Amino acid sequence: MTWYRKACRLALRGILILAAAGGTLLFIVPGAVANPSGLTQGAWRAVQPGETPAQALQAASLGEFHRFDPSHLTRIPRDGLGTWVVLQPPVSEAPGQRILSIPSPPFGTVALYDADGLLNRNAITETDPALPAHGRIAFMLPQDMSVHAPILLKFEPSTALNAPVNFHLQSPQAFRQVDTKWLVMASASLAVMLAMGLMALCFAAMLRDATFAWYALYVWSYAGLQSVQTGFLFQPLHLTSLAPVALPVGVTLTAISVASAVLFMVRFCDLRRYAPWLRRLMLAMALMVALVAGLDLTPYPAVRDLVHVLFNPLLALSAGLMVVTSSIALLRGSRAAMFFLFGWLPLLVLTALTSAQVGGALPDVDWLNQASLAAGAIEALVLAVGLADRTLNLRRDHNLARELADKDPLTGIFNRRGWIDAAEKSLADGRTHTLLFMDLDHFKTLNDQLGHVAGDYALASVAQNLKTELRPQDLIGRFGGEEFVALLHATDRDKARLVAERLCRRLHRMEIPLDREDHFLTISIGMATRRPHDSLSSLVERADTAMYMAKSQGRNRVVDDSRVEHPRQTLLRPAGPAGSSDATEPVEPV
Ligand code: GH3
Ligand code: MG
Ligand code: MG
Repeated sequence: MTWYRKACRLALRGILILAAAGGTLLFIVPGAVANPSGLTQGAWRAVQPGETPAQALQAASLGEFHRFDPSHLTRIPRDGLGTWVVLQPPVSEAPGQRILSIPSPPFGTVALYDADGLLNRNAITETDPALPAHGRIAFMLPQDMSVHAPILLKFEPSTALNAPVNFHLQSPQAFRQVDTKWLVMASASLAVMLAMGLMALCFAAMLRDATFAWYALYVWSYAGLQSVQTGFLFQPLHLTSLAPVALPVGVTLTAISVASAVLFMVRFCDLRRYAPWLRRLMLAMALMVALVAGLDLTPYPAVRDLVHVLFNPLLALSAGLMVVTSSIALLRGSRAAMFFLFGWLPLLVLTALTSAQVGGALPDVDWLNQASLAAGAIEALVLAVGLADRTLNLRRDHNLARELADKDPLTGIFNRRGWIDAAEKSLADGRTHTLLFMDLDHFKTLNDQLGHVAGDYALASVAQNLKTELRPQDLIGRFGGEEFVALLHATDRDKARLVAERLCRRLHRMEIPLDREDHFLTISIGMATRRPHDSLSSLVERADTAMYMAKSQGRNRVVDDSRVEHPRQTLLRPAGPAGSSDATEPVEPV
């Protein structure tokens, strides 16, 4: 048992360390690889009323646009009539097919123009784009376009949150490589989240523990949110019907993921015990996030504007509060809080970095969106390990409760219920076992003359002595008040008789006083050896009858069941509380 626990604990730690190391690598590797944009310069300006693409290109060449570095993340405004963006390829660019892509673009449409007009439009929610791409939108530049000519884009107006973007100009081969890598990473991360959620749901059903269900809801809603935000639902999944409602679906999934994360954490970290005040605050927070998200689905623009102002600070506040609460729970001894913090921190750091980026910081860190997917998968894994830990603890508690339920508190051996369960299992092997039914002689006298405390003490020491006299595979139990039973494993009548007589002698030699006149406690034993078609109850009945014969023959002796044909009726499972009834009838000493 101990080696098994140690192995489990070691395996848990190993998985945690591997997940943390794997996660760190996933963060560092994409960040360390430099991503040259393939563009020398960028410039943007709001679209003027009636302005043609040719006029926009002219204005850009006259330096009327705001300049920016296309390899750095830049916020392109999307209000009014939208925004022109002009990108300049390098002079040394060799002729050939080129693809312009915007990795991790926000919601909203981007259009490609040349001086004569619109060439193509694309969006992350597009299910049938001219150039399929994953986690990014991309345009194949026309073959006849000069390699040195500036590229003109229009960011069409959008009410969605304006996240910063950068641009890549690549050969089709380079583009496919990056695109495939992203697709593999995103599919793997989402698959991990879905699988962990499914596993948790099975555990929720098996263990009837809602903690697992909240975890499944959290992981799935986070996976759903990432699928919407990165466009995974539309490319490669082609869920066309969701495209027009991508924004409200995103907001709803965000609210569900925050609320279920809170509900999961409250139960998982046992906040009722470790941080009751913070638990109430967390629940209020979850309710607030759900309410505010609900308001975003109303048809009133003024209400929705308010929601857009409130929603992100509320999310940031909930995330911070979760970390504070789980840290306090950890300090106060909640082991589960450690798993929560381990899994949650990478996501929290990413959320903080992404918020900082929306504010203009970290312009050259363009891998945060990818990392959010990987961090979701890592978190799902770490929390699944935490749930496995919870399952082990639940099982340990269950085993302990079962052990307590099966044991007699006074003597420390099986009570009637536990003994019957164990004996029935033992009889299933079909071997010849012998059952001893033992009843202490004149025990009432001991109680009456020396008191109940002495009686209890005698019962406990008799049980311990009987136990040490038997082998570990023999099952001993307290059947009722001062009655004991023992199932001697694979023992025939002759061997069992020797054992029973040894027990009789040992008990007498213990010299437990019966009264104040130098009489010692003795025991009468009835024996029944298994016959074909015997059940546990028929075996007990014969042994009980044999025990009564021992009483009537003078007590302190062993009688076997060879002459017992019609056993007395003995109730195997009494109607009253287990282990408390005395099934024998008093027999006057002979
Ligand atoms: P006999 O030799 O015929 O078996 O006589 P007896 O006195 O042992 O038989 P009886 O069944 O009349 O008495 C059993 C006594 O065991 C009565 C009851 O008070 C006592 N007893 C039962 N359970 C406990 C217990 O848990 N603690 C103590 N101290 N006494 C108990
Ligand atoms: Mg008795
Ligand atoms: Mg009795």
